[in-house]
Amino acid sequence: MDDRSTPTAVRRTIGIDVGGTKTLGVLVERGPDGVVVVDREQVPSDAARPEAVDAILRVARALLDRHGGADGDGAGAVAVDGVGVGLAGFVDPYGVVRSAPNSVGLVGQDVRGRLERELGVPAVADNDANCAVVAAHAVSAPDARHLVAVTFGTGIGGGLIVDGKLVHGARGFAGEPGHMVVDPSGPRCPCGQHGCWERYASGSGLAWLARTAVERGEAPGLAAAVAAPADLRGEHVTALVAEGDPGAVAVFETYAGWVALGVANLIMLLDPDVVVLGGGVIATGEELLGRVRRIVAERFPAASDSRHVPIVASPGGPEAGALGAALLVHVGARGGWAIRG
Ligand SMILES: [Zn+2]
Repeated sequence: MDDRSTPTAVRRTIGIDVGGTKTLGVLVERGPDGVVVVDREQVPSDAARPEAVDAILRVARALLDRHGGADGDGAGAVAVDGVGVGLAGFVDPYGVVRSAPNSVGLVGQDVRGRLERELGVPAVADNDANCAVVAAHAVSAPDARHLVAVTFGTGIGGGLIVDGKLVHGARGFAGEPGHMVVDPSGPRCPCGQHGCWERYASGSGLAWLARTAVERGEAPGLAAAVAAPADLRGEHVTALVAEGDPGAVAVFETYAGWVALGVANLIMLLDPDVVVLGGGVIATGEELLGRVRRIVAERFPAASDSRHVPIVASPGGPEAGALGAALLVHVGARGGWAIRG
């Protein structure tokens, strides 16, 4: 698994991203010129049903069949080193899915073992946020040895690379910063705590900040955009920010402050080479990233002085999870191999 002895070799792996309603696989080549997706296969699937594992196998088989099988014979193709699977859940060190509220059909299934038995190639399985961090590293910062990735969606996901290795923690929950408490007197979170970071800094947090501003009469533009404050979503805020609406801009500035607070804490804890931010709201580009960089510099001098940690946007994209799963084959799902092989 160590390719330092053959630096010019092209290595092929398959990565599969298990979504709620579809399963996407990519065949990835990693060589001297970087990482390239050379083929893809997608099938409809239902992550709430046990048959979701059959869809994973179907996708992997289709890609193997089109590219000469696992050992590359028949077409003179490069052998496939293995299959990586990313899913919305936690996978134990033996490859069994233990907790997956959004992919309940996979819980208790030995995904890794079944792939290895039926396909005859090494397999790894991991949380989709960890796959995303591996993809962000390969595309955005391949030379970084210390990287923090945070994804802002309905909640907040994340992943850590420390000293070149993907960090899982003792039970597989490392790198999930959404439930760090940033305000003990804040709103209740479904996890049972109050004032978790994702209550403020996720996409739903942005919607909540917007509703709060409308209820206080501070954002007439946002109030006019919807029939009722409960209908407000993050997209309403970002659309009005693009138009320069003062109330929406004020909400977004507050939101950026909460994002910056969590980012500053992560910088203090981990001293990373780079922080990579992803998710829908990051598509606003400098509207958010510029504010976050400025606020970290202004309000959090301990995290910013003399460190100058770059805060950049994740390349993201619909294939990022599958790409990260493919790269995970060489990383090792349990950090057995360094990111920089
Ligand atoms: Zn929480």
